[in-house]
Amino acid sequence: MTAPPKQSVLSVADVCVRFGGLTAVSGVSFDLKAGEICALIGPNGAGKSTLFNAITGFARTASGRVFFGASDITGKRPDAIARLGVRRTFQNGGVLKRLSVLENILTGLHCETERRIIGNVLRLPSAVAEERSSIARAEEVLHDLGIAHLTNVKAGDLSSGQQRLVEIGRTLAQHSRLILLDEPAVGLSATDRANLGALLKRLAAGGVAILLVEHVLELVMAVSDRIVVLNHGQMIASGTPEAVRNDPVVLEAYLGNK
Ligand code: ADP
Ligand code: MG
Repeated sequence: MTAPPKQSVLSVADVCVRFGGLTAVSGVSFDLKAGEICALIGPNGAGKSTLFNAITGFARTASGRVFFGASDITGKRPDAIARLGVRRTFQNGGVLKRLSVLENILTGLHCETERRIIGNVLRLPSAVAEERSSIARAEEVLHDLGIAHLTNVKAGDLSSGQQRLVEIGRTLAQHSRLILLDEPAVGLSATDRANLGALLKRLAAGGVAILLVEHVLELVMAVSDRIVVLNHGQMIASGTPEAVRNDPVVLEAYLGNK
């Protein structure tokens, strides 16, 4: 088996996903390095969410491998992959509406270990200190997202755009090396989109690798170092935003699917 290229954070190697007779993802390969933003675009049904699911353990790969750094994570369970530091949002995910914004962000930090749960129950000093640092981290994330003033608001009372930001904040809370965002700009105002773009750029500058599924092409073009285009499960193009924008095969796939 071929090893992943050095310094790749994510390496997708010839991945196929099948649902019965349907091949939803067909032989897709690409790498993502630290600090890189890669957008995954393509018409509805192209296999973008399924590829996310294959990377994060929610869909079984029929063949191919997925590496996180040097670790082969193919076929691992979603919770195990999340614990390694691969974080994602879901296309139709959401916030926990009855919890406050702060509590929502904290859920992104709590990959509970048994030791931790026992520590919390016994109120061990280590657990108390950890809780304090979790809150500090959550507050930092809310500040970065520009929603610190909403810290104690119930998430269900927010606008849909603000709920999206909270959801993204949950994936950012734990300092992860790789985040996957499935259509994060849906329901965001132009201002929120611009803020989101700036946030993604800052995260990447800090070394986080970002895989972004997005239909808002303006955002994709503004933030991506590279774009991978899927159509009917196959990778039909990969390159800089400029190259992909002018690729006749890509234009055909979009127009042909309209
Ligand atoms: P995209 O996110 O690019 O819109 P999806 O990954 O959601 O596309 O879907 C790719 C293809 O796989 C579609 O034809 C879809 O109907 C099919 N598909 C996705 N999830 C399932 C599933 N759980 N069972 C069966 N077919 C699925
Ligand atoms: Mg999708």
